[in-house]
Amino acid sequence: MKVIVIGSGFGGLSAAALLARDGHEVTVIEKNEQIGGRAGVYREGGFTFDMGPSWYIMPDVFERFFAEFGKKPSDFYELRRLDPSYRIYFGGGGTLDIPSDLRRTYALFAALEVNGAQKLRNYLVSAREKYDLAVRELLYHDYRTLFDFLDKRILMQEASLHLFENLETFVSRYFESDRAKKIVEYSIGFLGGSPQNTPSLYHVLSHTDLTRGVWYPDGGIRRVAYAIRDLALSQGVKFLFNEPVTKIDVDGGRARGVTTARGCYPADIVLVNADYAFSEMHLLDEEYRSYPQDYWEKRILAPSAFVCYLGIRKKVRGLAHHTLFLDMDWEKSFDLIFDPKRAAWPDHPSYYVNVPSRTDTTAAPEGCDTLIVLALLAPGLPDTPAIRERFYTLIMDHLERSIGEPVRDSIAVKRIFSLNDFKERYNAFKGTALGLSHTLWQTALFRPSHQSRKVSNLYYTGQYTHPGIGVPMTLISSQIVARGITHDTPGGRTR
Ligand SMILES: Cc1cc2nc3c(=O)[nH]c(=O)nc-3n(C[C@H](O)[C@H](O)[C@H](O)COP(=O)(O)OP(=O)(O)OC[C@H]3O[C@@H](n4cnc5c(N)ncnc54)[C@H](O)[C@@H]3O)c2cc1C
Repeated sequence: MKVIVIGSGFGGLSAAALLARDGHEVTVIEKNEQIGGRAGVYREGGFTFDMGPSWYIMPDVFERFFAEFGKKPSDFYELRRLDPSYRIYFGGGGTLDIPSDLRRTYALFAALEVNGAQKLRNYLVSAREKYDLAVRELLYHDYRTLFDFLDKRILMQEASLHLFENLETFVSRYFESDRAKKIVEYSIGFLGGSPQNTPSLYHVLSHTDLTRGVWYPDGGIRRVAYAIRDLALSQGVKFLFNEPVTKIDVDGGRARGVTTARGCYPADIVLVNADYAFSEMHLLDEEYRSYPQDYWEKRILAPSAFVCYLGIRKKVRGLAHHTLFLDMDWEKSFDLIFDPKRAAWPDHPSYYVNVPSRTDTTAAPEGCDTLIVLALLAPGLPDTPAIRERFYTLIMDHLERSIGEPVRDSIAVKRIFSLNDFKERYNAFKGTALGLSHTLWQTALFRPSHQSRKVSNLYYTGQYTHPGIGVPMTLISSQIVARGITHDTPGGRTR
């Protein structure tokens, strides 16, 4: 079968490789000049920036993906465990390094509150159990009908999954100190949620970062995208770049192909990796959309972001490979992102700084550092050069004060990427960086479907679909959808 994949983010790359392996003739059509989508690469003045993801978590998911091809991650890239896993600067003052081994992390929690080590032990036992359950029963599951979701085994386990309790309440049952709570809660921001709007099930993230560790693929996250591209090429996938798809051509309830400025490409199957909301609203005629416009207006979108790529002509001492700067007013900072009535550029943002050159000599010229500064923002905010500069100054003033050394006096490269860029470069709805939040009603069956409801041979993969946001999740999304397509296709090589 001829398959057209629209978009070459992690979702498109991985689905293309899997479908080609299953015997399909696959062409990927990408709007931009390179693969990777939000995980693209920016190079300037000898500095190399992974534009999006920088945390390599859930290594087991990558292993399972490469095993589909009889390979291991180490066939493509080496992984290094970071120590410290990350550093935190707390708003009220003080810094903590989160160690890479659990023994030291328990000691750290023991110093944070009474019985802290034991509390963390209990918390991580729960996180491990739920992680194993989620991987076994939930993440790789194809939710096509309500019946699939109402699987009795899962429902019976609801009590232990605490689906209806939010992360904040759950964490408060384990920890009392502000710092301990923040350490186990911060990562939910990267999954596009807040501790208040995300089900407690997502405490499994602590199993991935505190127990399994934070890893770095030598040469950056781009090495993972290149590995999957190489797998796809080895299976015969063709790539077309700088070619935005302008229409999915549908006739009689079936997709017949896609149109770009260069012409029409016929297909037996069309798989969309481009932003789901954009594709529905701009690539399909109204009668073929699975969801009406107001469906998208009512979704809880995951945040957009302010990202600043800085090449620095010196080594910046106070920063680890990953450093978090957490605002004192933690609740308010989430409100400004998730409460549409209060949405605004924050005056006291929490933010994150990634310094890949701490670990990776290819990221910056000798004696220099590559800094990526990232703050989450509400989607849909106004975005002008003046607003960006004001925000940049605010963060850099805070950063320099916190680490006690100037940075702006040594800048060789500076590029800001924010709401308007997410819209223009990735066709992101309201400039969201991450798609849809993981609220309970936007989880599993309640995420936009992998298969169109109106067009029988039209499918979707990537961060909008189940299981959701993050590189590992997009790989799983593609494993689910490729399995579904091969199952639905007469003569497909079912595995
Ligand atoms: C700043 C940032 C930091 C992040 N940090 C992490 C992290 O540390 N760890 C982690 O695991 N995840 C992280 N994420 C999330 C992760 O990057 C995403 O969840 C994942 O990369 C999304 O992949 P995707 O394939 O769904 O979408 P995308 O990467 O957006 O791919 C979609 C592709 O479709 C293309 N496209 C759009 N419209 C068209 C069209 N009309 N025609 C053709 N092509 C089109 C786009 O150009 C793009 O290449 C981060 C994301 C961002 C933005």
